[in-house]
Amino acid sequence: METFRSIIGHRRVIDYLQESIRAGRVSHAYIFDGPEGIGKMLTARVFAGALLCREGGDEPCGRCISCMQMDGGNQPDVAYVTHEKAIISVGDIRTQLCNVVPVKPMVGPYRIFIVDDADKMNEEAQNALLKTLEEPPSYAVIILLTTNANELLPTIRSRAVMLSMLPVPEDELTSWLMGREQLPDYRARMIAGYSGGSPGVALACARSDEFQKQRDTVVSMLKAVPAMREDRMAQFAKEFAGAKETQESELGLILVWIRDLMMYKAVGDKARLMFQEEQDSIRDQAEHISYESLWAVQEEIGHIRADRVVNVNMETAFWLFLLRFQEHFSRGE
Ligand SMILES: [Zn+2]
Repeated sequence: METFRSIIGHRRVIDYLQESIRAGRVSHAYIFDGPEGIGKMLTARVFAGALLCREGGDEPCGRCISCMQMDGGNQPDVAYVTHEKAIISVGDIRTQLCNVVPVKPMVGPYRIFIVDDADKMNEEAQNALLKTLEEPPSYAVIILLTTNANELLPTIRSRAVMLSMLPVPEDELTSWLMGREQLPDYRARMIAGYSGGSPGVALACARSDEFQKQRDTVVSMLKAVPAMREDRMAQFAKEFAGAKETQESELGLILVWIRDLMMYKAVGDKARLMFQEEQDSIRDQAEHISYESLWAVQEEIGHIRADRVVNVNMETAFWLFLLRFQEHFSRGE
């Protein structure tokens, strides 16, 4: 059973939500804003579960009929607004929200609407939602989940309680992964660092053999950079360009490596590294490259990420990246 206690991180948000349940001051609209996989949907479900729990506490009890329905995904007073296209259209919002809001709750005191990807609503859809938000029935609670709340009209934002879901601290995420997925600490730490504090992303990586393979490939490539021959560089660049679906995670892994090099230079403490089991390589490389170079390499990764979106030739871009990375090492010696 999902409860507030079982959610990792987000203490401030959860305290706020529980306090508003206890005080009976529940708002008609909320925006849960934060990156992919951070726990927005989970928090929304638990909040809905607590609001409708027959026991009336500030946590879902897990035993009453409402909690059981919640668990089975068939609580009749909770609606998930879905969409099939890349955007949420006015039709989606009208049929699944505006037109059904006037229907009173079946049993409980609230009727709850959860809109995932709410920042994908086009303007027409947002205007339709706004009408509902202007005069909501007393029982309506609308929870908008967004990765970029700034995409919402200011008039919607001003009518909702905005709760920002921040990345879960790396140490907390690491021990959570170790406990939940039985991972050794060095693997959990690397995945926590890579995930940017997102439990959903971390969990997906921890369970993916593909991710582990990719990690191994990227690490062996990075270890070889200082002495890599040009034909190997060309080979890596070709492979990178050819595997579109893994480019983003490869770049993410490279950034974790660069971060480790910076961390080692800054504090010289191996215990703080994400790639724990690569301590020796990290130390060697950190000693032969300057801070300025590392910033430059990091920035270059940012450019490749941006270029991916506009379809620049990835093979050349990645080959140049490897070449420059290597040049920074020769300068640092
Ligand atoms: Zn209950």
